Amino acid sequence: MTKFELRGVRADVLIGAEEREEILKGVDLTINSGETHAIMGPNGSGKSTLAYAIAGHPRYEITDGEVLLDGENVLEMSVDERARAGLFLAMQYPVEVPGVSMSNFLRSSVTAVRGEAPKLRTFSKELQGSMSDLSIDPSFANRGVNEGFSGGEKKRHEILQLELLKPRMAILDETDSGLDVDALKVVSEGINRVRSNSDLGVMLITHYSRVLNHVQPDFVHVFANGQIAASGGPEMAEQLESEGYERFVKAGA
Ligand code: ADP
Ligand code: MG
Ligand code: MG
Repeated sequence: MTKFELRGVRADVLIGAEEREEILKGVDLTINSGETHAIMGPNGSGKSTLAYAIAGHPRYEITDGEVLLDGENVLEMSVDERARAGLFLAMQYPVEVPGVSMSNFLRSSVTAVRGEAPKLRTFSKELQGSMSDLSIDPSFANRGVNEGFSGGEKKRHEILQLELLKPRMAILDETDSGLDVDALKVVSEGINRVRSNSDLGVMLITHYSRVLNHVQPDFVHVFANGQIAASGGPEMAEQLESEGYERFVKAGA
């Protein structure tokens, strides 16, 4: 049983040497293992900032509040330690790492998180199985990480990492955006496979409710102006779809 807690989290984005702007204005959220929480909100409301700040991205600084994984202070951990503790972040815009093959990258990540290198043959099998599940062509294993990948291919690769790293808590930032119907299905099935094989807690950040037709959330939170403006059950996704975010944005402005 894992408990991931955000308590009064405030964070600034560091814009230049002197300039910063407060984006997160007090975020409170608790995610237990096995729960999926959808975070929905308009563009620019601070959803990605929340993901980056939790992951320890150097451009974002948490100025107040707490981030706890089973009571342990995540903010005192290095980025590597956060991954080893079982935190996983799938970025909205995955980075390209030319010259490092996908298979080497994944094996290094798995080694870092598990604390020992998996046997090459075992790992290859595991990798091939997961790639096949995600309809990723086997030739991708030898390509540079995300190098020249389409948007959809990058998102599948994020879910491939999720499957192999088996985290306790996953933050998925717009993993559904830019996907066509078929890719959305493959990616959603991947998330569901990981959810059913483990006691994963999920923070599913999304702009659109359509992914929630495939990945059923337990809770839906509206994010506006750097805060959770409202929370409810899965039915709230449909309500947002028909009514939009305006009501919440105005209320918080
Ligand atoms: P969302 O993911 O909800 O669309 P973001 O967290 O990406 O929102 O952005 C929230 C706000 O922070 C926006 O106004 C955005 O312009 C600003 N912001 C985020 N990152 C940076 C950055 N690196 N430099 C300057 N402004 C940023
Ligand atoms: Mg956005
Ligand atoms: Mg974003």
